[in-house]
Amino acid sequence: MLSRKITDGCEFVVFDMEWNQPFPGKEYPFDVSTLTGEIIEIGAVKYVYDNGQLIQQDVFSQDVRPTQYKKLHYHVKKVTQKKNSDLMKGRPFEEVSREFLEFCGPDAILVGWGNSDPAMLKMNLKFFGLDDKLGIPFLDIQPLFSSFSGQRGKQRSVEAAVDYYNIEKNDIFHSATADAHYTGRIFEEIFRHNQCTEVISAISSSSVDPDIKSEFGFVGQPASSADACLAGASGFITTCPVCGKKLDPKIEPFRIRKSQYALMFCGEHGEMFSRTRAKRTKNGKFYAASVLRFATQTDYYLVASKKEEFDKFGREGKPAAEEQAEEQDS
Ligand SMILES: [Zn+2]
Repeated sequence: MLSRKITDGCEFVVFDMEWNQPFPGKEYPFDVSTLTGEIIEIGAVKYVYDNGQLIQQDVFSQDVRPTQYKKLHYHVKKVTQKKNSDLMKGRPFEEVSREFLEFCGPDAILVGWGNSDPAMLKMNLKFFGLDDKLGIPFLDIQPLFSSFSGQRGKQRSVEAAVDYYNIEKNDIFHSATADAHYTGRIFEEIFRHNQCTEVISAISSSSVDPDIKSEFGFVGQPASSADACLAGASGFITTCPVCGKKLDPKIEPFRIRKSQYALMFCGEHGEMFSRTRAKRTKNGKFYAASVLRFATQTDYYLVASKKEEFDKFGREGKPAAEEQAEEQDS
């Protein structure tokens, strides 16, 4: 796995992108699943870590001229407040993407809000016949924010996090450069409000290699009971999807209601989070839908809290009434 030791001088590139979408139902001369969005803007702020603080170093801001989806999708138009004529002011993706990767350099950690941007960048690079290897780790700070602000497991927007830290809003949201700037400010505040050793350890355990697939899925055959379909997925959750070696359980599989959780371990690829749900087919049978992914810190919390629930309440989980009462308290 790609990883970086976070010491003084370490660089972080906080980035955000906007992309245009194909029109549903419209015919394109290629398979739209190979280009679900075409990048129209890349914005980034580079920071250097120094003695517990993030120091802003440089800014990247470029519009990209689309060649496939040249007319703004109404949703993108509404969210970004861009006009069709704005798109023509951009520069070719090949140039902008190359400059952006040069801006990042080989030693930075890429940082974003949510995990969709690195995948979209790779998709565009691949579609346009460019090398899609990013070669640097990626850190999603959305779950980091949730965890450090005591809202673990909740997905918050950039704007909600900006409000949480009382960050001054002097720019509109949903332009790539403005959102990269806001995300960077949130990242600064996370360092400012927490023990930096804790922040660093959360960063180290949450960074992923964007060049390897980090999540794997499995859908089982229909079975007559939830137990049978979960048992049918056991082969999937005990084999490393990258190297095929047998995974060792760190937290043995346990089941709460219709979901089974586990924390598995591959000697070469590290810890993997596993969740299998027993789902109903239309004709009353059950099938397993399983995910296995490189465990991030959010995943550890999830599996640990579910295990606690299981140890206390067993397979039926926490009674719904109690859960509601607790939610009203907090
Ligand atoms: Zn492995």
